[in-house]
Amino acid sequence: MIPKIEKASKEEIKAFQEEKLKDTLEYLNEKSPFYKRFFKENNINVLKIKKLEDLYKIPVTTKDFLQRYNDDFICVPRAEIIDYVTTSGTLGDPVIFALTDNDLNRLAYNEAISFECAGVKKTDVMQLMTTIDRRFMAGLAYFLGARKLGAGIIRVGSGIPELQWDSILKFNPTYLITVPSFLLKLIEYAKQHNIDLKNTGVKAAICIGEPIRDQDFSLNILSKKIKKDWDIELFSTYASTEMSTAFNECEYHVGGHHHPELIIAEILDENNNPVKNREVGELTITTLGVEAMPLLRFKTGDMVQANDEKCKCGRNTMRLGPVVGRKKQMIKYKGTTLYPPAMYNILNNFSEVESYVIEVFHNELGTDEILIKIASDNISEELLLDIKDHFRAKLRVAPKLEYASSEEIQALRFPPLSRKPVDLIDHRLQKNK
Ligand SMILES: [Zn+2]
Repeated sequence: MIPKIEKASKEEIKAFQEEKLKDTLEYLNEKSPFYKRFFKENNINVLKIKKLEDLYKIPVTTKDFLQRYNDDFICVPRAEIIDYVTTSGTLGDPVIFALTDNDLNRLAYNEAISFECAGVKKTDVMQLMTTIDRRFMAGLAYFLGARKLGAGIIRVGSGIPELQWDSILKFNPTYLITVPSFLLKLIEYAKQHNIDLKNTGVKAAICIGEPIRDQDFSLNILSKKIKKDWDIELFSTYASTEMSTAFNECEYHVGGHHHPELIIAEILDENNNPVKNREVGELTITTLGVEAMPLLRFKTGDMVQANDEKCKCGRNTMRLGPVVGRKKQMIKYKGTTLYPPAMYNILNNFSEVESYVIEVFHNELGTDEILIKIASDNISEELLLDIKDHFRAKLRVAPKLEYASSEEIQALRFPPLSRKPVDLIDHRLQKNK
């Protein structure tokens, strides 16, 4: 069932959000130590903010504020807090997020309607291949959403292909919730152990953390690789702790649907002005109906492209394309704006490229330079030229490319304190600290 408001006209959605915004502003003005002060310092009279356009009068909230004044964002007494979540902050220390009982209900509702977007029904069983603990919000949200929907859920957690397969064969889940690249590991394991991928009963995967489509919504290289061996439907979902809301693809796979009852979404340029439909900008959000830590015009740091046209599924809400990149990773190279994921996508296309790492730094003129180090068994000038051609065709510019040994790249990709492989080494950020 699609929530009524998501099928309503653009005007109705706007009016609905303006009502909710009014409540949010009054709530913040009364309960949030941070925003009370923020409104005073910026001479904002919340009673005068009536339309979505009026939001531009309020300065944006940055991740730095959230980190610096973390406790001041909490609007409820400690006894009302049920769940504690942390996310990585901008200054090193994690940022604490608190949720009340109502916030958990809101999270369950959000995930239930997002699952429904991907066609999940009460009769479905989902296998959860992400962490539910470790102060992580997403895993808990999936569990609560499945429960609200009445669907079954198997909490296997992340990794361990053997256990995942044991569980798939034992409980016959119809949906998997996973990081898409992990599906490649499952495929590899299945091949090694003669598991018939065509007869698993799995219909689809809800994919988090990595894009599965290009900006034109066609499958990217990763998802083509998955579907070649295992032809299940892939749904992208995009969410963050700060939003406590997901943007989930419907069966038409043309971007993640906005849930207007949960969040106001703005796409802003560098000067915090709205960009035009389908232009890339930073997703900036205002949460609706959040009790413990509501956020107003919070800049997420994610660069996205939005589509405003009505979707064939009947929803009339904005659709977000795959995340183009993180704002702080934006590279201005020879007059062109680039984000690392677009470069990964090109490099992943070459089977001759065994591994790679991208280094970004400032040259003597203070402008951005890119150096891509590549390891390959098949070292040749032709390969470098071929890769450069692909860069020019897709991104209009070709960065510097050079060969390195697999050992060197391995060492760069796995620095001692990192839990995840590093694809991008950004020397620009280190200098700013
Ligand atoms: Zn749709």
